[in-house]
Parts: sequence; structure tokens; C-alpha cells
Amino acid sequence: MIFYVRGRFVPERESLVSVLDRGFLFGDSVYETVRAHRGRVLFWRDHQARLTHSAEGLGIPLHGAHPDPLEILHELLSRNGLEEARMRIIVTRGVGAGYQFAGLEPTWVVTCERFEPPSEEVYANGVNVAIVGVARHAVASLNPEIKSSNLLNNILARREAMAAGADEGILLNPEGLVAEGAHSNVFWVARDGSLCTPALSVGILPGVTRMKMIAIARADGIVVREVHERREALEKAAEIFLTSTSWEALSAARLNGRPVGSGRRGEIARRLRERLRGLYGREEETA
Ligand code: PLP
Repeated sequence: MIFYVRGRFVPERESLVSVLDRGFLFGDSVYETVRAHRGRVLFWRDHQARLTHSAEGLGIPLHGAHPDPLEILHELLSRNGLEEARMRIIVTRGVGAGYQFAGLEPTWVVTCERFEPPSEEVYANGVNVAIVGVARHAVASLNPEIKSSNLLNNILARREAMAAGADEGILLNPEGLVAEGAHSNVFWVARDGSLCTPALSVGILPGVTRMKMIAIARADGIVVREVHERREALEKAAEIFLTSTSWEALSAARLNGRPVGSGRRGEIARRLRERLRGLYGREEETA
């Protein structure tokens, strides 16, 4: 694969960044994972807005001289001969080991890989999820709305979930409210048929897929509630599913070892995933 590193397109083995880069030393960096479908970048404007917001949150300047990220993404697709791809844009604060913040030049890196979605069998059967003991950061700590490359919180949560035989961990916030997956947002269908997802104020990443799902579901006549709920809400749910750029909408078949609803894919998840995929063909949603 060809990657983009500090102004150059280079083969993966030559994709080198200094060990004094603050991204490597401290995870002092922001990122976005984007997907290309049929050679077009999905929901680019939303990803770009979130990258800007994350960088502002950490005070990493994006306004200086830097390349047009969309041009880099298209160039990577063309150089790697890919139409279905997952690309990761990483912007670190730059090279510098100390606590001096002025005068650093942000490091831009974009990696690229062939996009391998979960199989349709996985979608049909659903995955196992577990509520984990690792809590999501408090909003006053490293605010989860910042998509930073300091992913230890997420890694510890996924590791704990996998050790318990689950595929994804669901984190609670420090007050015990359901927050999000280690690498996904979470939705559930309550017994009254409404679709629930944690409110942004719980302290979660404002997922691009989450936002699309809420809009699609409302347009489809489903009542959507952004909630502050405890784990019991998930334990009583008729359906649970996870959303992300890579997973779209993936049903949870089991929660902490117990079947969720039918114990297979939920009907709402199936329908909303189909609607989401319908957006991929729309000119205004791609770039
Ligand atoms: N929440 C977390 C913590 C994530 O890492 C991700 C994606 O990686 C998501 C949610 C889903 O976000 P998106 O739908 O923008 O991919």
C-alpha cells in the first residue's frame, strides 16, 4: 500500500515518522477513519467537520499551510488502485518531546487499506457485546467528543470485552450511564418501540454513522430518543445494535452472555442499515 506521510506518497515500508513525534510519544494527535465506496469518500463533509472540531479541542492548528485532505484521499485511492477502501487521517501536534507547544508543525499522515466489511453471516447472526468495567472518560477529562489517537481507554475496554468472550465492549460513563462501544456508538430498541441512543452530553464520540442513523430513523417514522440511561435499559432492550463507519449497523445477539431479543439480527438494525447504504449513492453525501 501507498501511504501519505508529511507531504509525500510513499510505500508502507518507507512510511516513517520521528520517534520524537508527539503522536508517538503521547498520543498527542487526532484522527478520522473514512471509507471510500465506488471511489467516492462517504460523508466527507461530516468527517472533515469532526476532524476540525477534534483539532480545536486539543489546540492542534489545522489552519496553517497543509494539504487538502480530500485530494490526498483521492490520490491514495488512485495510487493504490482501490475503490473500496478505509483510510485513516492522522494529524499530530508535531515533533517535540517537551512541554513547549509553540512553533510545532503538525505531522499529517494518511494510511490506506482495502475495506473488508464483516460478512453478511456476521450481520445476520449478530455479535456478542459486554458491558465492561473500564469507564469512558469524564467530559471534563479527555472529552470523548474529541477523536484523539490516545485510544488507551478504548483499547482497555475492547481487551476486557474480548477476555470475556465478547466482540465489543460497551462503556458506561463515570456516573454509570450507558455511553458507547469501544469503537462504535450504541443504539437499542426499548420495549415501547422507541429507538434510544445515549445523548452527546453523556460523554461520547459524536459518530458520523450515529448522526445519519438518527436522521434516517426519524425520516422512517421511528421515534428516536437521545437518553441518559443506566445499564438496565440495555438489559431490557428488544434489540441492540452498534454503529460505525466500518460496521454500519451491526446487531448485538448477546449482551454479557444473555440473548438480546430474538438472539439474532434485529429488524430495526436490518432496515436502518439498508437505508444507510442507500445514502452511499447520493451525490451530496459523497465526495
Ligand atoms: N465511538 C468510538 C469511541 C469510536 O472509536 C467510533 C469509531 O471509530 C465510533 C464511536 C463510531 O464513529 P463513526 O460512526 O464516525 O465511525
